[in-house]
Amino acid sequence: MKILLVHTQHAIQRFGTGMYQKYLRYAPLTMPTLAALVPAELHAEVRVIDEMVEEVDLNWNPDLVGITAISSASPRAYEIARHFKNKGATIVMGGVHATLMTEEALEHVDVVVKGYAEEVWPQILHDFKNGCLKRVYEMREYNSALSVSPARQFIRRSRYIACNTVEMSLGCNRKCDFCVAHRFHQKFHAKDVAQVIQEIKAMPGKMVTFLDPNVAGDAQYAREFFTEFKKLKKMWVGCVTIDIINRPELMDLMVESGAKGFLIGFESLDQEALDAANKGFSRVNDYQKAIKEFHRRGIVVQGSFVFGFDTDDLNTCQNTLDFVIKAKIDLPQFTIYTPFPGTEAFLRLEKEGRILTRDWSRYNGHEVVFMPKNMTPEQLKAGVDNVWKTTYSYSSILKRLSDPPYLIKPIIFLSNLNFRWFMKRVHAQ
Ligand code: SF4
Repeated sequence: MKILLVHTQHAIQRFGTGMYQKYLRYAPLTMPTLAALVPAELHAEVRVIDEMVEEVDLNWNPDLVGITAISSASPRAYEIARHFKNKGATIVMGGVHATLMTEEALEHVDVVVKGYAEEVWPQILHDFKNGCLKRVYEMREYNSALSVSPARQFIRRSRYIACNTVEMSLGCNRKCDFCVAHRFHQKFHAKDVAQVIQEIKAMPGKMVTFLDPNVAGDAQYAREFFTEFKKLKKMWVGCVTIDIINRPELMDLMVESGAKGFLIGFESLDQEALDAANKGFSRVNDYQKAIKEFHRRGIVVQGSFVFGFDTDDLNTCQNTLDFVIKAKIDLPQFTIYTPFPGTEAFLRLEKEGRILTRDWSRYNGHEVVFMPKNMTPEQLKAGVDNVWKTTYSYSSILKRLSDPPYLIKPIIFLSNLNFRWFMKRVHAQ
């Protein structure tokens, strides 16, 4: 049996467009995990492609193609599906978009996997072999007993800045209304500490990148995990929510365990916007002091901001720009509010008649797909373009990176240059 596993990417991130370069790339684990789950008794030939770093060989003739996609990449996923279906392959699609938009996905592929694959993927392969495939397989509850380590030999390490990616948990115990994390993962699941530590021990190199939406989502688990991680004498970067500032003892442990970078979704400088988006646990008043505290502890900050909340107006972009430079955020990232299909945000805006397009390829965080409240779509887009442009001017980069911590600053500097390159291609005015 010949199996092709493709992590499809939107053109913005796809290899060959040249927009998303090495110092911004994290190795995704979905397809290497599916590869590890292929039952040995099938003696399958497996190929894994992440479109961020390589191209799909359209001349190959696989028997079965597994595809994963977020919403913005779903049109691309359907294109790949069509190509291999025409060549006689059976197409299986999973991931966030197929889980939340199952009926739509079924119009393009033979089988949809809703939720996790650990249990159903081996079942699908056996059913395929025996000619008794169902159209939908579902596993919404994560079963840690079935958890496997990804088949890392399929990761093209040299093409990512973050090649040692790991998940210590799945999902998020918060419920921000624009986010798909809690829609896909219905519950937060912590993985077995010993198993994850074992997986990390087997990795070459010192730096580990956690892909979890929030590595401190369960404080008790995080304590247990980082106590063990500390013994490995490695370094790590990962996502946290800003309220980590209220847990200084956990932060101490994280720093001792090798924390070098936090990715934080600040989203907005307007508390009202955060409250309305169910992200009120993030306190704007904490931002400045938290960033100072992270820097003091040797942690660089990648901060993401979203524009287009209903309270945002023409001043929002400039205020955010001033803050990002003043607070010296090491690697800022900006997106336009995107009501992903399947989220509460989409349902609300649809009810209000404010959805402008259902072309999911435009749900990429860099285009306006809904009618903003206090601006025109053009004004919102122009404001965000300007924030990118000014933030990634050479003078702003130097201002933001001038203070300690310096340890991983050379890498962060290169990431800034890659974002500058990206900005010039995606946000050039
Ligand atoms: S905290 Fe982050 S990952 Fe969790 S629901 Fe909110 S935006 Fe999503």
